[in-house]
Formats: sequence, structure tokens, C-alpha cells
Amino acid sequence: MSNHEARSTMLSVLLGCLVAGGLGTAGRPLSADVSPAGAVGLPETVAARILPMRIEESGDLPVIATWEYLDGAGAYNKAVDELLLSRLDAYKGSIYYPAIPTEAVESSTGLSVSVRVTGMSGRLVTFRVSEEAQEGAPRSTVFTTDLDTGTTHEGQPPQPASVLSAVFPWVDRRAADLSALDEPAPPGRKHINCDLVPCVALTYDDGPNHDTLRLLEILRARGVHATFFQQGVNIAASPDITKAVADAGHTVANHTYTHADLGGIGLEAVRQEVLLTAELIKQQTGRHPGYFRPPYGTLSAEAAAVVNVPVIMWSVDSQDWLTQNKDLYIPQVMEGVHPGAIVLMHDIHSASVDGQDELIGDLLAKGYYAVTLAQLFEGIELSPGAIYYCRGPAASCTQSR
Ligand SMILES: [Zn+2]
Repeated sequence: MSNHEARSTMLSVLLGCLVAGGLGTAGRPLSADVSPAGAVGLPETVAARILPMRIEESGDLPVIATWEYLDGAGAYNKAVDELLLSRLDAYKGSIYYPAIPTEAVESSTGLSVSVRVTGMSGRLVTFRVSEEAQEGAPRSTVFTTDLDTGTTHEGQPPQPASVLSAVFPWVDRRAADLSALDEPAPPGRKHINCDLVPCVALTYDDGPNHDTLRLLEILRARGVHATFFQQGVNIAASPDITKAVADAGHTVANHTYTHADLGGIGLEAVRQEVLLTAELIKQQTGRHPGYFRPPYGTLSAEAAAVVNVPVIMWSVDSQDWLTQNKDLYIPQVMEGVHPGAIVLMHDIHSASVDGQDELIGDLLAKGYYAVTLAQLFEGIELSPGAIYYCRGPAASCTQSR
């Protein structure tokens, strides 16, 4: 190869890189911009902190959005949320709410957005937003978030490395440094924005017992976290199981000591039911329980004031305890579930645990993200003694925006 040929080969490689680097996105669907792994080109330590996200919505205004959260980069995650929500609101012409697609969506028919971390330089995270709407040319914009100040601006950081990253975006990705990130959030508390993605909070009542351990294994295999409303009497009998639930990253919450109907006992008895159970949970998990659910859903205003933590009911009743049959309670949940739902189930019944792998598989296949109550209500200040049923725009739910 002559010098001249070598130079022109170099040039065509460089030009190829420029195109592949995202300066143009025409001719391929934007949804392909984020690989399934979501973290290609990042060092393994940082890639493990990437949470790939996806929403898809069919109908008159179809949407496909893919993005990456970065655990330990709160200001970046917030910037991505704000950016996506503002784009989606503008596209819809009203406040965007998460939805479940009823039919397959072609990225070429509506709005496609992808957000990808392109580099990190110290506490600066650079990311590329690629957009393609049915009308208008595809757009690709780079932003930089300063994790210390929480500010985000358009463009690369003013470091020499950023010049390289404009041409070779994966160079900065590989240079990303784990030490620039904050401590990872504990499992079950990782950032997910339930105003953006369709969330479902699975809740399991009345345990713990030996079936709880079987459920923990199902949740672990599915990579899903949930909330357990436990009875004090069962915690006292199986304290190790309560500890195992918390150690796995799930939330343990208060469901009274004896499963008493709080409508039928005095306030002092209510106080005892609540305090005894809270103390047992604190002993096993190291945390005072942050949520309460009354047995049978009955709670007077006076008793709610005694409870002194947010009271969590449900918006979807599986009736699993009644049917004890997964062929009945799974369709019951799938018909009632909605973005922001809280689903009531009971891990104390083995028939309920039997259907959980199938149910969770069905929910994930529909596009739901299974979350804990802390994740479901992130960004909403819950009041002690107040009652919550779900998150979202429905009348009975708590609206966040
Ligand atoms: Zn119960």
C-alpha cells in the first residue's frame, strides 16, 4: 500500500467513525442506538452501574424512548428525566403519563428518543440525545451534567479529551471512572422515574413463612424488588426470614402484630399492634418500617393518626387468598393493572407464590417495571397517617405532576 493509499484508507475510516459517532442517524432506527446490554464501550465497573430503560407507547402519537440511568450520578439521572419529560410533554401537547403499548410500534411512525452516556471526565457526565420525529430531520445533541453543581448545559466539557470524544465517542466511554460516581443505591432503591415508565409495585402481605423464601428466590431470578407487609406474630416466629427479605433489598413494612381488624379494637390496642411489630422489624432489618397497611384495609382517621407513617392500600386486588389458583388471580391482576399500580398479594399462601414467576414474566413482557414503594413514590412527599392507593393521574391515585 502506498502512502497515498494508506492516507485515503485512514480518511475513510475516520469518516466512517464520524457517521457511526452519531453525527447522523438517518437510515437506522434510533431505538437501535442503545444496545440491549446498554453499556457497550464502558469499563465493566461503570457498565455495572448503567440501568438501561425503555418505554414504548402505541396509538395516535407513538413513542419509543431508550435511555441509560447511571447509578450514583443523581444529577445526570435528574437531567435525563427532565429532558425526556419535557420532550414527551411537547410531543403530546399535554402532560405525558406512562402507558402500555396496545400494538407494536415502529420507530419511524412517531417520536424516537435515545439518551446514551458518551463519556465521563471527573465529575462531568456527557451524554448524547438523539431524536427522530416523523416530520423533520433527526437531531443529535450532546449535553454535559456537572454532578457537583447539578447543572446541565449543551455541549462537551471544556477538556481536551472532549475533542477526541466528538470523533470517537467510545474513547471517553472507556475512560469513564467509577470513582467519580457516588455510592450505589441499595437494591430496591435505585432511581426509576414512575412518571416516565409504567411502574407496578408488587406487595405481599401476612408473612413471613417458609413460602416467603421460595418467593425471594423467584424475585431474585427475575431481578425484581417488592414490598412485604409482615405480621409481627410471624416475624417473631421466623425472624431470619424477615432479615433475609430485607437483606435481598426488598422493603419490609408493618401489617400489625396479630392481623387484628383495627376497626374493632381501641386506640391503645392499635398502638400496641403497630409499635410491637415496628420494633421487631427494626431489630431484623435495622430500619424502622416506613409504611403501614391495616388488615382488611380498615382504618379509622383516629387509628391512622396513631400509626404515624404513610398508610399504603392498593389499587389492584388479586384476590389470591380467595381463589388460591394462579389461573384466576393472574388474569385478575393483568386486567386491573395500570401504570403506577399497587398490587395486593399474599406470600403466606403457597398457591400465591406458585404463580409469581408467571405473573412477573407477564408484567415485564408488557413493559412494566416492578418497583418497591420507595421507588414508586420517589419525588412525592408522603405524609404520616395519610392513605395512598397508587401513583398516577387517576382520581384515587397520588399525582406527582
Ligand atoms: Zn393481611
